Amino acid sequence: MKASPIPQLLMALLLASINSRKSDPDAPITASFRSMAIDGQFTTHDVSNAATDFGNRYHFLPSAVLHPGSVADIAATVRHVFQLGPSSRLTIAARGHAHSLQGQAQAPGGIVVRMESLGRAKNMHVHAGESPYVEAPGGELWIDVLKETLRHGLAPTSWTDYLHLTIGGTLSNAGISGQAFRQGPQISNVHQLEVITGKGEVINCSSTKNAELFHSVLGGLGQFGIITRARIALEPAPKMVRWIRVLYSDFTSFTEDQEKLISAEKTFDYIEGFVIINRTGILNNWRSSFNPQDPVQASHFKSEGKTLYCLEMTKNFDPEYPEIMMQEVEELLSQLRYIPSTLFQSEVSFLEFLDRVHVSEVMLRSKGLWEIPHPWLNLLVPRTGIHAFANEVFGKILPDSSNGPILLYPLNKSKWDNRTSAIIPNEEVFYLVAFLSSAPCSSGQDSLAKALKQQERILEFCKKANIQMKQYLPHYTTQEEWKFHFGPRWEEFKHKKQAYDPLAILAPGHRIFQKAVASL
Ligand code: FAD
Repeated sequence: MKASPIPQLLMALLLASINSRKSDPDAPITASFRSMAIDGQFTTHDVSNAATDFGNRYHFLPSAVLHPGSVADIAATVRHVFQLGPSSRLTIAARGHAHSLQGQAQAPGGIVVRMESLGRAKNMHVHAGESPYVEAPGGELWIDVLKETLRHGLAPTSWTDYLHLTIGGTLSNAGISGQAFRQGPQISNVHQLEVITGKGEVINCSSTKNAELFHSVLGGLGQFGIITRARIALEPAPKMVRWIRVLYSDFTSFTEDQEKLISAEKTFDYIEGFVIINRTGILNNWRSSFNPQDPVQASHFKSEGKTLYCLEMTKNFDPEYPEIMMQEVEELLSQLRYIPSTLFQSEVSFLEFLDRVHVSEVMLRSKGLWEIPHPWLNLLVPRTGIHAFANEVFGKILPDSSNGPILLYPLNKSKWDNRTSAIIPNEEVFYLVAFLSSAPCSSGQDSLAKALKQQERILEFCKKANIQMKQYLPHYTTQEEWKFHFGPRWEEFKHKKQAYDPLAILAPGHRIFQKAVASL
């Protein structure tokens, strides 16, 4: 049995805080954490690793890293930092898989909690039955959730395009992909959470129990609590997926078809889209994984110099009865206005489809092109502004799409729960437009600066044209900008922060709130 860490730690902290008034007031305190009797451990050798993320542009060193062995380890750590009060500068960041872009999972001088230490398959419980669900630790990767639930013939209902992200990381934002038009984002598909607040309390919450905390945490950018466990809705898992891509040269036909599909009763299971600007050999590249409907016509198609829009869709099916799916796909395709020679299709397993981005990750890693700066910009653009946006951005601000994919697909606001903290545009249909740029060193020193300049121009244009977009995975540097982001919901957000994390200990990497520190 482990010894209770609290009395020893409190004493150590007290002594340390008395001894530390002069230089860095928190240095002895963080050192004392290492002697805490916990199930896991505190380390300092890996602080530089905890100062990295996928964006690879922001690097804030923490003082220590907690590898929790239990939920109690995290609760005890938060509680102690809370009890230190404003005499300490310490903050705490939960780190999922660190696929943030601008240091959101980092804690300058504070403590980074490696949530993945809690995420182990043995802690996952699948409940089959009438309303199936899985209970999983907040640090679990979605790919592992999928593999575990598939063993029961079940799968979560809503996804992200890439599955090597944690439950806590995506639920702190929203979790969007091509299923969200129908299922809602991942935050609309959670029944219950276990959360550690900024006071160190462990609280179970749902839409009927501690409902305010539950809704605050979903899409709450980690500001109100650390998600240690989530109960996620499941449905019967499809076996196979028909995966379809077609091209458009006309933006209006493209978006009208997308919108028709997302509002139809009988439609595809997944609907996304992307923008291709002045690229060569697009259809040839697809041939390694897709089959053209008309190989001869497809081989004559030229993409260079053009701005093209790719509609991507899937239909799930049972390989024993492919006819039903084929009929439905044919019927749906017959209503669309794509360029006929560009119809490409493929059939893959459900797992292969959902884990598709990982294939690119493996390839990019092998070329040293994964751990490079990623100046991404994700916008939620209201339907009424999407044409003006496209007109200005595609071709004018961005002369080509060689820096990385540009996703563009519509979502239905009615599938979002407005009690959550996620901020979206105030229109029934809005588009995710994601500029997923890479800035490899091989492209020259200024490739990062160039991508950032283009993003600045896009944001400036939105402002000038009064396009009421909202950033997804938002990044701002001043509280004024955050106030603007939250708009009329700012006061409510601030009020909830005061209720659940009054000292602003949690998720400092977003730079929304500053920890209250007494002058020392
Ligand atoms: P981290 O980066 O580790 O953390 C993100 C934030 O959440 C931080 O503020 C952190 O403190 C907080 N946090 C982490 N864990 C917890 C927890 N347990 N409790 C409370 N707060 C916590 N997003 C989409 O919606 N759809 C996509 O299709 C999509 N595709 C992506 C593809 C790639 C290749 C990448 C890099 C990102 C993608 N994202 C997508 C964005 C992704 O959802 C977010 O960056 C997410 O935050 C990453 O999860 P993570 O586990 O790496 O979180």
